[in-house]
Amino acid sequence: MGTATVIDHPLVQHKLTIMRDKETSTSSFRQLLREIAHLMCYEVMRDLELTTITIETPIAEMNAPTLAGKKLVFCSILRAGNGLLEGMLDLVPSARVAHIGLYRDPKTLIPVEYYFKAPEDLEDRLIVVVDPMLATANSAIVALDRLKERGAKNLRFVCLLAAPEGIQKFSEAHPDVPIFTAAIDQKLNEHAYIVPGLGDAGDRMYGTK
Ligand code: URA
Repeated sequence: MGTATVIDHPLVQHKLTIMRDKETSTSSFRQLLREIAHLMCYEVMRDLELTTITIETPIAEMNAPTLAGKKLVFCSILRAGNGLLEGMLDLVPSARVAHIGLYRDPKTLIPVEYYFKAPEDLEDRLIVVVDPMLATANSAIVALDRLKERGAKNLRFVCLLAAPEGIQKFSEAHPDVPIFTAAIDQKLNEHAYIVPGLGDAGDRMYGTK
């Protein structure tokens, strides 16, 4: 059985409940996703390495902590990943960004790539892949395959909701990649939607249905 870290902070859980409600407007949904991304980013980054630099405050010189290593990369799985991406970038504005465009073939449910753009040097960077819904995990698995082909070694996956089936499949394919989620729901339905879930995250973010 795969595992995921559930970020069960009361503020995350409260905001998630509002997002799940079908009466919540598109603009509120987007705003809440951004706010939850802030809170999740804070938790996902809690073990980042620090180094010290010497700076001068208006009062005195000091050795002050700063993030160590190369700038990290946020990788958004289009299009719903962009909602989490925006919130993460609010907290880490200097991060590099990768985009992977995958659509789900409605018959086979197999992801088909239509876009890939990432920084050149992925080897030495932490790469945080974001997609709100870990359902079948097909898209997430393909996205991580592509990033690993390009040299990525240090990866984390962040979603808002996960289905147990998705966690299982993802962990079998990428046991080295930790999953962070705000909740683990009951199951997938026959259309591969998460139950009870929140519907189609992309449609709810952009008002396309
Ligand atoms: N993608 C979504 O947007 N929602 C689901 O429930 C499953 C996949």
